Amino acid sequence: MPVGLVILGRQGSGKGTQAARIADARGVVHISTGDMLRAAVTAGTELGLAAKEIMDAGGLVSDDIMNGIVEERLQEPDVVAGGFLLDGYPRTPGQADALAEAVGDQLDLAINLDVPVAEVTARMMARGREDDTPDSIARRLELYEAETAPLIAWFEDRGILAVVDGIGTEDEVFARLQGLIETVAR
Ligand code: AMP
Repeated sequence: MPVGLVILGRQGSGKGTQAARIADARGVVHISTGDMLRAAVTAGTELGLAAKEIMDAGGLVSDDIMNGIVEERLQEPDVVAGGFLLDGYPRTPGQADALAEAVGDQLDLAINLDVPVAEVTARMMARGREDDTPDSIARRLELYEAETAPLIAWFEDRGILAVVDGIGTEDEVFARLQGLIETVAR
């Protein structure tokens, strides 16, 4: 059975970078909803047009839209065969419920990559992405605490939450994550 993983963490925690490395190392499919939305913006699709303003303001695209996109992606053959590592989804309790409905007990592990607010703010200011203005960073972190942090409890209730310290070099954090994933890999 392919493995089903979720990585949670504040924006700027390094979860995107780590998720890509894990996917490479383990052959699971990295599903980053932020990357999917940015690709839609670049391509100028209907989704991209709808999402751009919300993303620039640091808001959240609606659960209906996000659940639809992810559900479709999860049904594609590469994911069905190789398993998945979700990055940036679920971000709200509504998305978590939709995910549970879509994959059921294929969800093996939710990793909370823990990096404190002060550290992620400094990292985001340094990376200089177009949507990384001080206002949008502050808004995203607020939204994270309000909407996403409760998901940590949601995963904990299902007994699949693990916390990984996200402070350290990229290689150090990667080694911690690999060690953890070994414990659930089938
Ligand atoms: P990220 O690259 O994960 O930081 O996502 C960039 C932006 O895309 C976020 O600030 C949101 O505006 C939007 N986004 C990405 N994933 C989601 C999601 N699961 N639900 C709602 N909005 C999302």
